Amino acid sequence: MSKIIYSSTNGHPELLDFKEALLRGQAPDKGLYVPDPIPRIPKEELASFSGMEYPEIALSVMRRYIGDLIPEDDLVAILEDAYDFPVPIEKVYDEKHIMRLDRGPTFSFKDFAARLMGRLMQYFLKQEGRSMVILTATSGDTGSAVAHAFYGLDNIRVVVLFPEGEVTGRQRKQMTTLGGNVTVFAVDGKFDDCQLMVKEAFVDPDFAGLNLSSANSINIGRLIPQSIYYFYAWSRVAAPDREVVFSVPCGNFGNVMAGLLAMRMGLPVHRFVIATNENDEFPRFLSTGDYRPIRPSVKCISNAMNVGHPSNLARIFWLYGGEMDETGQVVRSPEIEAMRRDTYAVSVTDAETRETISEAYNRFDTLLEPHGAVGWAALSRYLREVEDWRPCVSLETADPAKFPEEVVRAVGLEPPVPESMARLDGMEESFDLVAGNYESFKERLSELFRG
Ligand SMILES: *Cc1c(COP(=O)(O)O)cnc(C)c1O
Repeated sequence: MSKIIYSSTNGHPELLDFKEALLRGQAPDKGLYVPDPIPRIPKEELASFSGMEYPEIALSVMRRYIGDLIPEDDLVAILEDAYDFPVPIEKVYDEKHIMRLDRGPTFSFKDFAARLMGRLMQYFLKQEGRSMVILTATSGDTGSAVAHAFYGLDNIRVVVLFPEGEVTGRQRKQMTTLGGNVTVFAVDGKFDDCQLMVKEAFVDPDFAGLNLSSANSINIGRLIPQSIYYFYAWSRVAAPDREVVFSVPCGNFGNVMAGLLAMRMGLPVHRFVIATNENDEFPRFLSTGDYRPIRPSVKCISNAMNVGHPSNLARIFWLYGGEMDETGQVVRSPEIEAMRRDTYAVSVTDAETRETISEAYNRFDTLLEPHGAVGWAALSRYLREVEDWRPCVSLETADPAKFPEEVVRAVGLEPPVPESMARLDGMEESFDLVAGNYESFKERLSELFRG
């Protein structure tokens, strides 16, 4: 196996192994780490995936990125522990499918990435006898996925900040009912205030000894695990030699970047439908060649996708020979014709999203929530405008029960609530209130680590 190194999309000359890239998160030049070269999986090995369970496919993908940093037996144990929940692929009609990535502990696809990243971090920290504090600001889904992923792990402590008035009760309870190594602060402010407070703590010399990490969505350890389910889906609907079309609801573009990575690894994908809500900066870029971030982002009902400048675009540009810096400035144009061959970008309005939830339910008995509905609506448009004979898989990224208001509004029925989500309602919560400024937060954080 050739050795994979990790380099920055902004061109910083330092080259790291997987462990260092994972523990650092972001490159010193503010670029994102990318694997170089991208490993290939031979055709014969891909063909064998159809007889494998999810953790076995995960092993084939992940060992190529991790190399010999983790012995195979240990990696197998980590993967079986991280991926102990089902990944249903439902046929909607003909060869058009929905893959439900919402069966993890926090009911969003972010569990796939966060659970593996947490376990890999713990493994390496233990090896080195180091500990780490994960400090993260959340507007909802990320905080709960990260808190759950790191809950109960040794050597890692988690501190989450959320804007008091901006998360739903269930989202809050997914974070505040854990306890143990997870501490939660409700901030009297907005999500942006939480983010600023986290950023200040990272550069505060008083906290230099804590080994703070953000474990945020741009970490390479969160990106790569998301490639695995593309291999899994292909093995179930198109193996051994057909090409598949994926439709991916996109916000920060980590999910679709992981798909494009799978394609470069040799997965037979015909195209990715890039589905955005009304934040259509990428569909516009693909049609005009001119990239303009949307500031401020548009508020849509698929709220985890309200991103006006997706940070993973830097990686997608890199993949196509271009360069984009962290502010969204295009330093070198990517090969846009190649991008247009591999992807088809569609922007979906809130009105279409609601119609799609209703139509999928009434015509196909398939229950979707707003994010998955954006993906399904975009796929439907692709099938009308381009071609409709290949097997297709549209990704459902959250459980409809997380968005009951929109589901009730569209189909007039309460989505069934999974048992472990229902259990949350009666559970004891624990969190502290903190004012929306750094000084107050610093005092509380210091107290926490003095004790
Ligand atoms: C985060 C999220 C997305 C967007 O994924 P990206 O990788 O940021 O493009 C879509 N749907 C749900 C439910 C999410 O939580």
